[in-house]
Amino acid sequence: MRQLTCSGPGRLEWRDVPEPRLASDDDAVVRPLAVARCDIDLPLTSGIFPIREPFALGHECVAEITALGDRVQGLEIGQRVVVAFQVSCGACRSCAVGHSANCDRYPVLSDFGMQPLSGVEYGGMLSDLARVPHAAAMLAPVSAKLDSVALASVSDNVLDGYRAVAPHLEDLPGSEVLIVTHGLKSVPLYAALAALALGAERVDFASNDDDVLEVAERLGARAIRTEFGKPERRYPIVVDAGLTAEGLTYAIRSTAPEGICQSVSFYPGGEMPMPLGRLYTLGIRFSIGRAHSVALLPEVMPLIEQGRLRPQDVTTRVVDWEDAPAAFVEPAIKLIIQRG
Ligand SMILES: [Zn+2]
Ligand SMILES: [Zn+2]
Repeated sequence: MRQLTCSGPGRLEWRDVPEPRLASDDDAVVRPLAVARCDIDLPLTSGIFPIREPFALGHECVAEITALGDRVQGLEIGQRVVVAFQVSCGACRSCAVGHSANCDRYPVLSDFGMQPLSGVEYGGMLSDLARVPHAAAMLAPVSAKLDSVALASVSDNVLDGYRAVAPHLEDLPGSEVLIVTHGLKSVPLYAALAALALGAERVDFASNDDDVLEVAERLGARAIRTEFGKPERRYPIVVDAGLTAEGLTYAIRSTAPEGICQSVSFYPGGEMPMPLGRLYTLGIRFSIGRAHSVALLPEVMPLIEQGRLRPQDVTTRVVDWEDAPAAFVEPAIKLIIQRG
C-alpha cells in the first residue's frame, strides 16, 4: 500500500509499504478518508525534531473501518469514525481518569504520524490503511449526516482548541476571552470558535499573523494586530498559543488578577521565561499540557452534531489525496486532504 513518508527535512513522498493487519483481537484496521494537517506537522517535517529515519505522516483523520478484531464491541466494518491520534489503551489508571495522552502502557508521545517524537512508528493516516489498537477506546463513530472533510481535524486540533476554553468558561460563564496567537495556526482559531459557541461574552484574538487574524474576524472574534508589546486590557480567561517568549509574556500580562492563562503551546525550543512573581502576586493560574484525545472526543462530538461547533469554518484549503506530498509542505492555515 502507499504511505506518505517523510524521509528528511521537507522531503515527502509516497512509499510502498506492507499493509497493516490486525495484531490483536482488540484492533481495527481503518482506511483514512480525510486527513487534516496538524499545527505541529510543518515543524515536524521541517526537521525541528531530528528525523533519524523515514516516518509515516498524518494523525488527524476520519476513516472507514475495514477490519475488526473479534473482541471489539460497539463498532462495525464499514462504519466511519474519528481516530484518536494518541495511542491509549482505555483501561489503565491514567486512561480511567481521562489522562489518555499519558497512557501507562505506552511511551510518552505515542502518536500516529509522529515517530520523531516518541521513537516508535505507529503508522500514519496519510496511508491507504492504518492499524488502530484498542479500537473500542480509540475510535469515535461519526453520524451519517456529518461530512468527513469537516471533521478531519476533530481528533486533535479541534478538541485542543475546545479544551483550552471549555473548562474555564464553565467556571466563569460568559467571561471575556483573549486568544494570543504567536506561531500556531489552527488550534487558536478552534479555541475562538469554541469560546463563541460556549457563550463567551466577547472573544478577542491577538496576533502578528494577518492571515490568521482575518480568519478569526470571519469567525466572529475581534482581531487585535499586535507585535506583543504592552497589552491594551486584561481578561479573566487567556489562551496562549504559540512559539515565542514575547507571545507568552504578552499572554500572561493580559491575564486579569485571579484569572486563568491556559497554554496550548508545545514550546519545542526548551526553556521559556516565566514571571512567577507576577503570577503569585496577582493570583494568576497558569495551566499547560497536552489535550487528551480519547477522553475529549465524547465531549466535542455532540457539540458538532448539534451544529454548535463548526470546525469547517476554519478550513482554508482542501486538496485531493494525490496532491498530498506537495500540498503538505505548502503554507495554509488549515489544510485537509481528501480521498477521491
Ligand atoms: Zn497534532
Ligand atoms: Zn491507558
